[in-house]
Amino acid sequence: MNIPNEHIDMPLLTEKGIQLYIKREDTIHPFISGNKYRKLKYNLLEAKKQGKNTLLTFGGAFSNHIAATAYAGKEQGLKTIGVIRGEELAFKWQDNPTLQLAHRHGMEFYFVSRSDYRLKSEPAFLQQIRERFGDVYLLPEGGTNALAVKGCTEILTDADAKFDYICSAAGTGGTVAGLINASLPHQTVLGFPALKGDFLIEEIRTFVQNKRWQLVTDYHFGGYAKVDQQLVAFINLFKSKTGIPLDPIYTGKMLFGIFDLIKRDVFQPGTQILAIHTGGLQGIEGMNHILKKKNLPLLDV
Ligand SMILES: *Cc1c(COP(=O)(O)O)cnc(C)c1O
Repeated sequence: MNIPNEHIDMPLLTEKGIQLYIKREDTIHPFISGNKYRKLKYNLLEAKKQGKNTLLTFGGAFSNHIAATAYAGKEQGLKTIGVIRGEELAFKWQDNPTLQLAHRHGMEFYFVSRSDYRLKSEPAFLQQIRERFGDVYLLPEGGTNALAVKGCTEILTDADAKFDYICSAAGTGGTVAGLINASLPHQTVLGFPALKGDFLIEEIRTFVQNKRWQLVTDYHFGGYAKVDQQLVAFINLFKSKTGIPLDPIYTGKMLFGIFDLIKRDVFQPGTQILAIHTGGLQGIEGMNHILKKKNLPLLDV
C-alpha cells in the first residue's frame, strides 16, 4: 500500500526554510485508520493461523484501537470483545461515539473498574478473562506487540529516504518502535507522547534495534485526551490552511509540537521532516461532545 506524502505550505515553514510533509495514513480506511490498520494486519493473520474465532482487547472510552478492532473483526469474520476502562460506562456507553461505533460493528463490551483495568496484564486477571470468554486471541491495550511493531515498519517506503526526521504521535509506543526499526542510518525518529509519564521509553526499547530516536515530552497538554483552547485553535487553523484534519488526542498535539520546535529553531534550515498522520479522526466527535458540555470552542468538522 502506497500512501502519499503531502507537502505542507505554511508561512512559518518558508520563513525557517523547513520542508514538512505529512504521510496521510489517515486515508487508509474510514474506520481502521492509520496506525491501527498497520498494527492489526499481522495480528489478524496470526489469529486466523491459530484458528481463533474471537479477538479480545482493552481500551478506554476514546480508544481508536477499540474502534479499529471492532471493524477489523467484523470484516474478517471474527467476534470481538472490548474490555473497557470505567465501570460507570456500562450505563452510559450509548453517549460515547467511539463505543457506539464499535458496538455497531459487533463488539461486545466488558466494563471494568479503573483499579481492575490496571491489573489487565496480570496472569490472574488474564486467567479470569479466559475462564469468562474462552479461547480468545488477546491483543494488548493499544494493540502493541511484536507483530504490531512489524506492521508499523511498513509505514515507511523507499521514497521516504530523503527525510532527516520522522515524527509520530505515541500512545503505547508501538508505532514509533516500528518507525525506528524501519528508519535509515541518517534519520532520527521523534515520538510525541500523548500521555504523561516516562514508561514509554522502556516499552519502546523492548522492540527496537537502534538508538536513533528521541521522545519529545512537552506536548501532551496535561495528559491523555486533555486539550486546551490553544490546541483546538491550532487544529482548526491547520485544517483551514491545509485541508488536512487532525485529531485532538494524537496528531494535533504532534503537529502543534513540530510547529513549536520549528518556531524555536530546533531544526536547521533545509531540514526535511516527515510527520506521520496516524489517523484517529473518529475521536473528533467524542471530543466535541466534551467541549460542548464545557461550553468551549469546538473542533471544525
Ligand atoms: C493509537 C494511536 C496512536 C498511538 O499509537 P501507539 O502505537 O500506541 O503509540 C497515535 N495516533 C493515533 C491517531 C492513534 O490512534
